[in-house]
Amino acid sequence: MSEPADLVVVGAGPAGMAAAATALAGGLRVVLLDSGTALGGQYWRHPPEHARAAVPTDDLHHGLRRYRALCAALAAGRAAGRLDLRLGHHVWSAVREDDGFAVHAVDRREAPRETALVLRTPRLLIATGAYDRQLPFPGWDLPGVLTAGGLQALLKGGGVAAGSRVALGGTGPFLLPVAAGLAARGVEVVAVCEAAHPKAWLRHPGPLLRNPGKWAEGAGYAAALVRHRVPVRPRTAIVAAEGGERVTAVRIASLAPDGSPRPGTERRVEVDAVGVGWGFAPQLDLLVPLGCALTDSADGNAVVAVDGGQRTTVPGLYAAGETCGVGGAALAVNEGRLAARSVLADSRTTPVPADKRPAAVRSAVTRQRAFARAMALAHPLPPAWPSWLTDETVVCRCEEVTAGAIRAARADGAHDHRQVKQLTRAGMGWCQGRMCGPAVHCLTERRRAYQPAERLVATPVTLGALADLDEAPAAPSGPTASTASTASTDNGATDKECS
Ligand SMILES: Cc1cc2nc3c(=O)[nH]c(=O)nc-3n(C[C@H](O)[C@H](O)[C@H](O)COP(=O)(O)OP(=O)(O)OC[C@H]3O[C@@H](n4cnc5c(N)ncnc54)[C@H](O)[C@@H]3O)c2cc1C
Repeated sequence: MSEPADLVVVGAGPAGMAAAATALAGGLRVVLLDSGTALGGQYWRHPPEHARAAVPTDDLHHGLRRYRALCAALAAGRAAGRLDLRLGHHVWSAVREDDGFAVHAVDRREAPRETALVLRTPRLLIATGAYDRQLPFPGWDLPGVLTAGGLQALLKGGGVAAGSRVALGGTGPFLLPVAAGLAARGVEVVAVCEAAHPKAWLRHPGPLLRNPGKWAEGAGYAAALVRHRVPVRPRTAIVAAEGGERVTAVRIASLAPDGSPRPGTERRVEVDAVGVGWGFAPQLDLLVPLGCALTDSADGNAVVAVDGGQRTTVPGLYAAGETCGVGGAALAVNEGRLAARSVLADSRTTPVPADKRPAAVRSAVTRQRAFARAMALAHPLPPAWPSWLTDETVVCRCEEVTAGAIRAARADGAHDHRQVKQLTRAGMGWCQGRMCGPAVHCLTERRRAYQPAERLVATPVTLGALADLDEAPAAPSGPTASTASTASTDNGATDKECS
């Protein structure tokens, strides 16, 4: 793309793909960046293009027709010279500048070598999704204990099953596709331990009845689990993992309504891998430093506050998908479309396309958000989960801070995760609290939603890459200036990735 871009979209998952496709349909020039090697994000995670023939994963996916339609729209945008698709590009910071934004990224296609670049844009749309929320338990740091999303990512992204006898635990409907995917690849899933009880859904009949598609999807997974004889155990949890060099067994217990293990119900099950997931935490790394307002969501996370058109409180900055609350791929797609329509309306450079169904998209978003709220309320974190921890259980794995140290910090007066960090170093390591932050928050303060600490650098960047950037000619600035890069202008996405 030779002309300056009108919009930079960060994240090529369902939300970012839909946003870019809608913006292209409205005539805008778009840069779409993703740190991954393929389009699709978490939901439509695929192996890199060159490995797809050897690693077929289509049977693990849902909604591929929509994915292919979005890929085709993006391919058409590239062919018309209006889409600059940059896979393998991790955005480590975005800052406000004059009337627009400077987006700092590193190109990691030649890893470990990396090249820094800066993109300038009048409008920025962040669709960076979410990641697995983890709660610690004794043994969770053993090799072979993964997040449920990690197990699925290995399967969808590389055709790899992390074990042959796997136990899954946590809460939320996401455990079902993970179990179904593993079982479809011949893995023996010995148990799906769901902390909630299905009857919790009955308290939310409205959202259930208005979202029949979700039930069809759930019924499909349930049928697959019955076919593969996978036992789903409500109101149970994996409360400990055992092993030496790697995990060899889990301890599973029935839970009382408050989430504490019922005495006498614990049993040991042999496994060679474990996947645990307690819902998701929105990926807000780029949004918090930009200063946009956050709001509490029903699942205990702070999320980006947006208006009915996905505008954040920062002018020119839009958000879509799981950054605005965890609600599934269909909601993410619709939010991406709405956000791009707002960009088009706010840019006023081109007429907003005569979309066939803008009102339908808005009403779908309302309906799907109501379902997401019901899902969060039906699958809460068990209040008494800290009772599973011994004082020796490691909570912050990077800095090896134990539950005992965190309890001591709390007794010394720390009343949020930031103060615990100052006293114990929990959250100061390599992952910067992404893994332990929600847990440390729950261990110290329960009333407010978890809000991640501000991180000015979203991913570690080498000094070499930054030094190279300093030597580069200054990037053009101004509201309509767009890409300036020290990297080659080859954007790294093959045509096939868009077709
Ligand atoms: C591990 C995992 C597995 C999931 N699997 C399922 C499933 O099987 N079924 C289901 O219904 N829902 C699943 N979900 C929920 C799912 O994320 C959403 O429903 C849907 O994918 C959300 O779309 P999105 O576009 O908002 O975000 P995502 O799909 O998460 O896409 C965000 C994209 O942003 C990119 N990104 C993030 N930060 C940066 C950065 N700084 N620079 C550049 N790129 C960046 C990521 O690489 C990613 O491709 C999963 C979630 C996770 C975390």
